Amino acid sequence: MAGDGIGPEVTAQAVKVLRKVLPQAETEEAPVGLAAIDARGVPLPDESLALARRADAILFGAVGGPGEEALPRDKRPGTSLLLLRESLQLYANFRPAFLFPELVGASTFKPEVVEGVDLVILRELTGDVYFGQPRGIETDASGQRFGFNTMRYTESEIERIAHAAFRAARQRRRKVCSVDKANVLEVMQLWREVMIRVGREYPDVELSHLFIDAAAMSLMRTPKAFDVIVTGNMFGDILSDAAAMLTGSIGMLPSASLGEGDKGLYEPIHGSAPDIAGRNLANPLAAILSLAMLLRHSFGLDDKARQVETAVRTALARGFRTADIHQPGTERVGTDQMGDAVVQAL
Ligand code: NAD
Repeated sequence: MAGDGIGPEVTAQAVKVLRKVLPQAETEEAPVGLAAIDARGVPLPDESLALARRADAILFGAVGGPGEEALPRDKRPGTSLLLLRESLQLYANFRPAFLFPELVGASTFKPEVVEGVDLVILRELTGDVYFGQPRGIETDASGQRFGFNTMRYTESEIERIAHAAFRAARQRRRKVCSVDKANVLEVMQLWREVMIRVGREYPDVELSHLFIDAAAMSLMRTPKAFDVIVTGNMFGDILSDAAAMLTGSIGMLPSASLGEGDKGLYEPIHGSAPDIAGRNLANPLAAILSLAMLLRHSFGLDDKARQVETAVRTALARGFRTADIHQPGTERVGTDQMGDAVVQAL
């Protein structure tokens, strides 16, 4: 599901890498976002959803573009992603933020702050204020319009994301930091209670808590202190973009949205970047690293995933850089050439 803007450009590079690393993989394409609105009048046509249900894994590009604000909410390109996540019950969004040593100089942060950053933000994806009812824009008795949304989490929704966080930490450095706003919001008070309760089942994992405001500050000040950060949908949305800057560029960060089984949706965390679309400028590495996550989680091919990650590292070590991570002394290349460099390294 390549989508709009730079979506098709970066997805094409990931598919090129897939052809090299797993030639027997079967692929099919389905329209989403503005591309689907143009073709079928809706952001997620039934056939696209049916194909997503049948697939073992979904490689997603990005959706959206100019003019989307004018469309009714159910016709907006982003609705396709929300519907996919909801329909496939993909509630756990893993967003690793890992700094390749070759890119230390590309970050806006001082090298000593970001060198060695290796954390995962686990964002709950199907609840919170993005889905909570009631919501809307209405008019009060005085004739003034007001807008409202509902931040809502059930205990079971918090429990399952908590388990996902503790399980992920066991594969890493065994530290979970739960981020909430329990000092102000009741829903977040429940979040913290449930995190503590579930945490007792994982005595080998260290659990800490931060309020979202303090977490944002700590992530900028001492990012190396974090291992797994687990948080709700909205806070995770914001924190993970901030974390992107630690690693040099939003064009470097992959993500995986998982549910109970092996199936997952894999996508770069960036959007459709209309400002650079169609100019062979986009960094395809986030899409290629998303493919590596797909190979690991949905296909259980850890060795192939590692090969792709190593090939990305090799392409960087050979000095290839797209514009967003370009530094003096490195070779500036376009989207296609970066994809080719990874294939060549493989
Ligand atoms: P964006 O991520 O598209 O772009 C933000 C900035 O990062 C831009 O300057 C862009 O040029 C740059 N950038 C993004 N990806 C890059 C890459 N791979 N290589 C180099 N530079 C890159 O976010 P935005 O500008 O806020 O949104 C643009 C559109 O994307 C909107 O329509 C928005 O709704 C949509 N969007 C979609 C998704 C998604 O599909 N998951 C996520 C976020 C935004």
